[in-house]
Amino acid sequence: MKERVAAVRERIAHAAQRSGRRAEDVTLIAVAKTHPAEAIAEAFALGVRHFGENRVQEWEGKRAGVEGLDAQWHLIGHLQSNKAARAARLFSSVDSVDDFALAQRLDRARAEAGLQKLRVLIEVRVAPEETKSGVDPSDLHELVERLLELERLELRGFLCIPPFLEDAEQVRPYFVRLRELKEGAEVAAGQRLPVLSMGMSHDFAVAIEEGATEVRVGTALFGARG
Ligand SMILES: *Cc1c(COP(=O)(O)O)cnc(C)c1O
Repeated sequence: MKERVAAVRERIAHAAQRSGRRAEDVTLIAVAKTHPAEAIAEAFALGVRHFGENRVQEWEGKRAGVEGLDAQWHLIGHLQSNKAARAARLFSSVDSVDDFALAQRLDRARAEAGLQKLRVLIEVRVAPEETKSGVDPSDLHELVERLLELERLELRGFLCIPPFLEDAEQVRPYFVRLRELKEGAEVAAGQRLPVLSMGMSHDFAVAIEEGATEVRVGTALFGARG
């Protein structure tokens, strides 16, 4: 694990350099889905401070094993509305909001629990032919505008899950698309929405070259999933 973390960090630093940024400008989110709490603790001991899970239920079963670790917990997978209230209490950030009714549920749950603002990202569907989750780009500005009015949510930016393509170069246009949509949304909203969560184990270097500020890396850190 130590070598894997070091190797990923080095690739992040190089890609950041190529895009004229510093390694610290890119947050590594370690995606620990299917891996046990011990794997999270091990990565934490190596300095990793952000973790991603894609299922509420899996995180509910695992979190006791890492109780007390001062890390940020991201929900990065599709969230069903009937699990929104639980997610709002268990995660530091929900990175996959794609619908206003879901956002309202998160907002209400934070208020009811007496919790401060929940950080959220909007998941954008950059490959409509491939995926079902994510807001359609044509509905993005409206969702941003409505989300910014919710008191217990803090909209910070955007996430995308492009199709899996063996050759990471072929994924580049999807990352460019998300960056352009983000820039358009910032103009429309009249404020900065600085986070771009894009790039996974096989394509994060390309994503960083195109402006990713957060990369979600599972396999390259924890090994193959069973
Ligand atoms: C599993 C997952 C990742 C990590 O994928 P790897 O290829 O293992 O790095 C990133 N983002 C999301 C949304 C995921 O579900």
